[in-house]
This record gives sequence, C-alpha cells and structure tokens, in this order.
Amino acid sequence: MRTIHTDCLVLGAGLAGSAYALQAARAGLKVEILSLGAPLQANSDWAQGGIIYDTSPDPAQLARDILEASDGAANPAAIEQLVREGPAAVKELLLDELHVGFDRNAAGDLHFTREGGHAERRIIHTKDATGHAILAAVAQKVDATADITRRSGFVAVDLLTLSHNSVDAHDRYEPLTCFGCYALDTATDEVVAFVARKTVLATGGLGGIFQHTTNQPGSVGHGVAMAYRVGARLIDLEYVQFHPTVFFKKGAQHFLITEALRGEGAVLVDARGRRFMDGVHPLGSLAPRDIVARAIQHHLAETGDACVYLDLSALKSEFIRDRFPGIYERCLSHGVDITREPIPVVPAAHFSCGGVHTDLTGRTNVRHLNAIGETACTGLHGANRLASTSLLECLVSGKVTAQADVAELSANVRITNIRLPEPREWQSPMRTADPLLIRQDLQQVRQTMWNYAGIIRSGRRLTRARRILLELREDIQAFYRDCRPTRELIELRNGVQTALLVVHAAALNPISRGCHFVAPENE
Ligand SMILES: Cc1cc2nc3c(=O)[nH]c(=O)nc-3n(C[C@H](O)[C@H](O)[C@H](O)COP(=O)(O)OP(=O)(O)OC[C@H]3O[C@@H](n4cnc5c(N)ncnc54)[C@H](O)[C@@H]3O)c2cc1C
Repeated sequence: MRTIHTDCLVLGAGLAGSAYALQAARAGLKVEILSLGAPLQANSDWAQGGIIYDTSPDPAQLARDILEASDGAANPAAIEQLVREGPAAVKELLLDELHVGFDRNAAGDLHFTREGGHAERRIIHTKDATGHAILAAVAQKVDATADITRRSGFVAVDLLTLSHNSVDAHDRYEPLTCFGCYALDTATDEVVAFVARKTVLATGGLGGIFQHTTNQPGSVGHGVAMAYRVGARLIDLEYVQFHPTVFFKKGAQHFLITEALRGEGAVLVDARGRRFMDGVHPLGSLAPRDIVARAIQHHLAETGDACVYLDLSALKSEFIRDRFPGIYERCLSHGVDITREPIPVVPAAHFSCGGVHTDLTGRTNVRHLNAIGETACTGLHGANRLASTSLLECLVSGKVTAQADVAELSANVRITNIRLPEPREWQSPMRTADPLLIRQDLQQVRQTMWNYAGIIRSGRRLTRARRILLELREDIQAFYRDCRPTRELIELRNGVQTALLVVHAAALNPISRGCHFVAPENE
C-alpha cells in the first residue's frame, strides 16, 4: 500500500479547504488537499448571491440578523467570531491578495447588495456567479503554492485512528486520535494511506441525500459519515435548509432559481395557472423561504403534480435577459425560454446548518481531527442560515483553524513529536460492484429522505424513513464489505449513513424551529 506523509491533510477543496491550505502552507506546513473531482467541482463554485463584507455602520446589526435568521438558536460566540473576523478575512485574501473581480460602480467602489433577512446592504458579489469568481482565484493560488499538493479524484474512504488502524496493537489504549485517512485514487483504483499530523474535514454539505437538491453531485455528507464512524460528536443535523425554487426537468441537473426573480415580480403558480401562494401568506410568492418551500411541497403532495411554475409574464423580455442572463441561458439550454414561458420549479435541499461539532478553532472531540466550512457546526447558523453567511464562514473557519494548527505544530514539542504510526494495510475484495444496484440504492435513499424526512416531517414519517434506511444500510454494508471500493460505492455507503443520522436527529427533536418542521401527527 502506498503511504503518503504530510503535516496537514485536507479532505475537500472547496472554499473552506482551500482557505485552510493556503494559510497553513504560508506558515511552512506541508499540505495535501484531496477532492472527489476537478478542483472547481464544489458547491463553493456555484454560490450565486455573494459574500458578506461590509459590516458598517453597526456590526452588531449583522449579529442580530444572523441570530434572528437562526430562529434564536445560533451560538452567540460563533456569531461574534464571524462578525469580528469576517471582513478582515475577505479583505486580506480576496480583495488585497487575489483581487477577485467583484462588481464595482463607475467610481470603482464595490457594489453592495442585500438579500432576505439582511437589514443592510453588506454583500459583495460578481454578477450571479460569485462563488465561481472566488473559488477560481483561490484554486489558482493553491496550485501556485509550492507546499500544497493537490490530488483531484482522491476519495477519502475512512479516517485513520490509533485505536483502529495502527499496526501497533498497543495504540488502541491511546485516547481517540486521528492520524490521516485511507483514500481511493480513482485514476488507478488503488487505496492509498495518508498519514498526517492534522486531518481536516472540509467535505461540504449533504444535500445529495435528498431527491431534489441544489448541491453538486457527491454532496452526501462524506465528512459527517466518516466522523461518525470514528466517534466524533455531531450536532444540529435536523436543520437542513431547503431552497424553494430550483429548475425542474426530468433528466436535467437541478440548478437554483434565485429569489430575486420573485423580488422583481415573478409569481408562483400551479400546473393550472392558479396562484396558490395567495391564500397561504400575506406576502404571497414573496413569503419567507421556509414557508414557500413548505407550501409548494404541500401543494405537490395534494395534487400529485411533479412541479410548480414561476410565472414571469409581469416582467419584460429585455429586462429578464439583462437582469438574469445566467438563468435565462441555462433554462434555454434545457429548452425553456423564460421570456415566453414559466419556469418549472421544485423546492430542494440546499444547506446543512448542522454537522461535525467543533469549537471556534475547528477542533472536534477527536484529537488532531478538525472540521471546517459546511461540514462543521460551531452553532453559527442555529436552526436556520442567513443568506450569504456560508462563504464567509468557509473563509473564517479555514483561516482560524489553520492558524491554530500552525501555532500548535510549531510551538508544542509534545505534539510536534507525536509518533505517527504505520497504518494497517488496506484489504480490498476483488469483486466489482454492480453500478446498477448502487444507483438504485442511492435513488432509494434520496427518495426516502425527500418523502419522509424532507421539508415536512412527522414522527410517523421519520419512523418509516428509519426502517427503510436501516434495512438499506445493512444491505449496503454487506455489499461494501464484498466489493472493491469505487467512488459511487463510497458515496452510497456514506450517503445512507448520513441519511440515518439526519433522520435520527430529526426524530429526537419534536419541536418545529427554523428549517426543521414537524407536522402534527395526523398529517
Ligand atoms: C447553488 C448554491 C448557491 C449558494 N449560494 C451561496 C451564496 O450566494 N453565498 C453563500 O455564502 N453561500 C452560498 N451557498 C452555500 C455555500 O456555497 C456552501 O455552503 C459553501 O461553498 C461550502 O463550502 P465548503 O468548502 O464547505 O464545501 P464545498 O465547496 O462543497 O467543497 C467540498 C469539497 O469536498 C470534496 N469532498 C467531498 N467528499 C470528499 C471525500 N470523501 N474525499 C475527498 N474529497 C471530498 C469535494 O470534492 C469538494 O472539493 C450556496 C450553495 C449552493 C449549492
């Protein structure tokens, strides 16, 4: 088995993992950064709205907005850290060092926009493709940094712990400690061991365990499942945010249809052209996200329709093309001309507020295992997330966690000299997994989550979900033990595990709060 040694092993090359890697390498640490696919295949690349930057005139107002969006559940210390560290992190890396091309006015000043839940205009953006502008610049810097080795197409399989994976049997008496991971090199089909002094989970969200999602393929909560298997604490997993409108067409990949369209006058109608939101909320189609998502879901369940529609007939064609060029082009590429016809939409799983519990420097309860970005949960989002806080969270958590690791690895002799054991050999069965079975099982996980543990939950639905998923997990585990790992099989194994964890968290919390909605038992 090939074994690669490094100081810091980063699992995930989205904004959080990349920000960590840059900060650690700058301090002289050797970094390995792994990703499922190409460098820009990450949710970070798809962020549309923007990133919070300007907290003036009153930073405390941003703190209040985050707390309010969280339904009062967010951790005040995490909010305080984001508000304090965020603007400086954006300025330092994105503005001063990488010169990301954020939109500016004619005088050259940054253009600030505002989204739902924000009391001020404080968000900077690059048209409707902010995430791409940021990640492309950050990825380029990662590739130009000598102490960082990027390995695309390396799928982390399991974390290494002293108790389970050391060749020295005495290591099982050591405290719970992580020392790297096994990862599948998809180019050679070989499993490689990475041995690291610090391991960082930056694997992003878990929207991919639901049938409809805004997330990129592979977002099945890999980090959450791997962390669970080694005994890391998980928290707030029931708080999955659903976006009310993503493009829906059979066979086409979902993509987000921004709320700004409704802000400009588009309205939600059903297949018969009825404005079904009018009777639901005084704001109609502009009601808060979770109310719109629930109303759509309810309507679909009642009518049996596959989707609802966003009617843009109140908007002029030139305005649509000029204001929403990205959405216009993408819909057109799927045969929908939005200047002439309504957009078919469904709600979709969007963001995980919960995840692997960490303190404010990314530490989990497992020694030398950190978590950052969407995988982690410091309590910043509580029961619901304020728009445009997540990219900022990635930057801040990547930076402060790397700073803490640098301080620890360079100052603390005891830790610096930590003995990194040789990992046990990876044993792979020779059988090849049947891709049809994998696809079918993943589809079943996603349908089960959507129908029974999605936007509207109930005790009975969750019990049903749990029963189906437990049985599936048993089959999948047997399958996994018998077959050579592939990216798809690893995804299925982690997906079913994450799904069970979300269902478990949801079942333990009977109180509707934020994005966790529990219907009365007779629904
Ligand atoms: C459509 C969309 C629009 C959004 N818009 C905004 C916005 O406007 N503003 C905002 O602040 N937030 C927005 N968000 C949320 C935000 O983009 C994400 O929360 C954030 O980018 C997550 O970054 P991350 O680095 O944690 O994970 P990601 O960017 O998702 O990166 C995850 C990385 O982990 C890798 N990975 C996963 N599993 C493994 C494994 N087993 N082995 C190796 N690598 C692995 C992936 O390949 C990838 O490189 C949006 C999200 C979506 C989906």
